[in-house]
Amino acid sequence: MAYSYEAQVSQTLFDRASLVTPGGVNSPVRAFRAVGGTPRFMVSGTGPYLTDADGREYVDLVCSWGPMILGHAHPEVIAAVQDAVARGTSFGTPGEGEVALAEEIVSRIEPVEQVRLVSSGTEATMSAIRLARGFTGRAKVVKFAGCYHGHVDALLAAAGSGVATFGLPDTPGVTGAQAGDTIVLPYNDLEAVRAAFAAQPGEIACVITEASPGNMGVVPPLDGFNAGLKEICAADGALYISDEVMTGFRTSRAGWYGIDGVRPDLMTFGKVMGGGFPAAAFGGRADVMAHLAPAGPVYQAGTLSGNPVATAAGLAQLRLLDDAAYAKVDAVSAELRTLVGDAFSKEGVAHTVSAASNMFSVFFTDEPVRDYEGAKKQEAFRFTAFFHSMLSQGVYLPPSAFESWFVSTAHDARAVERIAAALPAAARAASEATA
Ligand code: PLP
Repeated sequence: MAYSYEAQVSQTLFDRASLVTPGGVNSPVRAFRAVGGTPRFMVSGTGPYLTDADGREYVDLVCSWGPMILGHAHPEVIAAVQDAVARGTSFGTPGEGEVALAEEIVSRIEPVEQVRLVSSGTEATMSAIRLARGFTGRAKVVKFAGCYHGHVDALLAAAGSGVATFGLPDTPGVTGAQAGDTIVLPYNDLEAVRAAFAAQPGEIACVITEASPGNMGVVPPLDGFNAGLKEICAADGALYISDEVMTGFRTSRAGWYGIDGVRPDLMTFGKVMGGGFPAAAFGGRADVMAHLAPAGPVYQAGTLSGNPVATAAGLAQLRLLDDAAYAKVDAVSAELRTLVGDAFSKEGVAHTVSAASNMFSVFFTDEPVRDYEGAKKQEAFRFTAFFHSMLSQGVYLPPSAFESWFVSTAHDARAVERIAAALPAAARAASEATA
């Protein structure tokens, strides 16, 4: 199937990019390989809309994979960035902006007593794992199939996101030594976790889990799953690490912790807290964080950590995220979920709209999806047809059936109407698709 409609400038840019960058992109899922066609090169964004290099406007349901919860180019965030950037872009010294951002995080998320700022979610999870190992003096790490924690060597095993999209086996370049201490278990299966701890008591440094996974599509934890993890970890002296890079400051004021109230030992953040800039963080129990250099012996550092422009953007965004903002995002998400579900039902397409707070995705199956195996059983080929129909009608979805859709406070009635208008033809395309 050819998908070349109105993307000549993007195609020219992609051809140029492919000569100088592997696969033409700087992050794999952007390349459209799972759905085919020309990735759209975007030139600007405003509110819920993106405009590509061919001058076409799209309603954006990716929101930069989560961060843009206020929509694109929010005037107050832009003003904060302009103000910061005019004062210089990086000092390599401490600054007040990073203190204010850390205070904002600590004040919102009660289990975070201390926090260290970094530049990406990958860095946050990598550092949290190192700290957990340094604190406990243990080597092993439990993760769940379908959960993605960035491209940390030890955490790429059976990972979600791009690894799921491309069905990649173990990544070449990750040595047995780097992955050998990683135990991969099925998600939402507490018995498997109990069995792993029983088989190697006192050897597991930590369990890391997405607070509510969004990287195999949206698969929320079953009731009691996160609480069970916490309990099993506590009984064995292991740390419970909740990865809130995606859910943090998105699913509520206090992220997924604000919803399930299960108190992690360590947490990781990124995306929303950077306001569209590279800012991320990890934090948690003060006695654990005290092991981090220079307070303690576990080394961790970063030239651009706590960058003044990134922290200004993040702080401006977080300060705008009050209860009213979350209510708005939740309401738009609920409205879209109903519209999407109704469109598929009308066309007789087997589907499940799976949601965790305002994050959601569609699985092309009637079966409830509780883990990665379940997610992979969907008829993903239907997504390809659906995706391209929506794209051709000016709606930009994540180019993979294994990713969350994201909305923002800027998704107003006009944006929702445009999505609603595109859905009938796209649902029909999904129903007519063949494997
Ligand atoms: N953890 C989770 C849950 C994520 O969703 C991601 C990215 O999508 C990461 C970690 C890695 O973050 P980054 O892409 O900023 O390195």
